[in-house]
Amino acid sequence: MNADALAGLIIAIDLGALVRNWKRLRDLSSPAECAAVVKADAYGIGIERAVPALAAAGCRTFFVALPEEGERVRDAAPDATIYVLNGFVAEWAEHFRAFSLRPVLNSPESIEAWAALCHGAPSVIHVDTGMNRLGLSLHQAVGLSRRPDLLAAAHPQMLMSHLACADEPGHPLNRTQLTLFREVRGEFPRLPASLANSAGMHLGRDFHLDLVRPGIALYGAAFAQDRAPMETVVTVKTRILQIREVAAGETIGYGASRHVLEETRIAILSAGYADGYHRMTGSSDKHPGAEATLRGQQVPVLGRVSMDLIAIDVGHVAGVTEGDWVELFGPNMPIDAVAAAAATVGYELLTGLSHRGARRYIEAEPA
Ligand SMILES: *Cc1c(COP(=O)(O)O)cnc(C)c1O
Repeated sequence: MNADALAGLIIAIDLGALVRNWKRLRDLSSPAECAAVVKADAYGIGIERAVPALAAAGCRTFFVALPEEGERVRDAAPDATIYVLNGFVAEWAEHFRAFSLRPVLNSPESIEAWAALCHGAPSVIHVDTGMNRLGLSLHQAVGLSRRPDLLAAAHPQMLMSHLACADEPGHPLNRTQLTLFREVRGEFPRLPASLANSAGMHLGRDFHLDLVRPGIALYGAAFAQDRAPMETVVTVKTRILQIREVAAGETIGYGASRHVLEETRIAILSAGYADGYHRMTGSSDKHPGAEATLRGQQVPVLGRVSMDLIAIDVGHVAGVTEGDWVELFGPNMPIDAVAAAAATVGYELLTGLSHRGARRYIEAEPA
């Protein structure tokens, strides 16, 4: 039997679109180097498939969050430079050595530990310029710059920082962070520097510096779609299990949170929050909710999403039958619109797609 016949949810992943998105970002950022952020299993699409496709297209540098992810990238791209964003602690030393991983050093303690254990292997120094997440304070960075022995032992190859508000181009913190980062760079004049994530690449060339670190844009979630449209990489679809007539005044689903105002037909879909489609994505009497796409038409999601089931209104779509495929998000239904309906972002929707969904890959053209 065709394996798709058994799947409730199909996650179609277009590796060609991934590669074309990376090339577009590379061209946009040139002469800066364009890396690829592949943490969280390449934003849910699969490190083992995404990384070889990107490496074949010419991507040389990858960022992950965790050492375990670094090992998987190393297996997929033997010659790549791999940075581990979540840093370094002494008990990871053997793992970093075995897979030639480079830590993003986020604290004075981790710099000391790396200097003591890495035997001259390269690293990155991360400075916090206003996000208050990971990274050295400005004061700590200046202190480090006055310790040539420690610097020589920790062997940093790059200085980086991360923007808190890059997705709001007019936010004053963007310029403030760039200014502070430039000041810190002055203390480490020989090190290349990196600041921009996907959104940061659109703040202007002065944010590109030596290396850009796009993540979400590679995977086609909308960001600055007006200036640099990305292709859809992930299409999520599911099937209609049942169609039923609903009378005016009746309610749909758990909590009876959505009344039907006039008689209609609804379809019940074979997917739910256990697949990563958020429970609050549908409409209630108070909240508009997301839409899905069926036979070329947009249809509203009704009521609360169940663990394994979703209801949509198909009253205005002709010819709907059980077994029809419905696109939950993809080329016809932007992931960001679906995420917004559940008060979240495309990042969370992508990285939350569960393993129950059947991942189907469309290969990239050979390089
Ligand atoms: C996740 C991450 C990125 C990539 O961010 P996107 O918004 O997905 O482009 C870049 N840099 C750091 C430090 C990150 O944590």
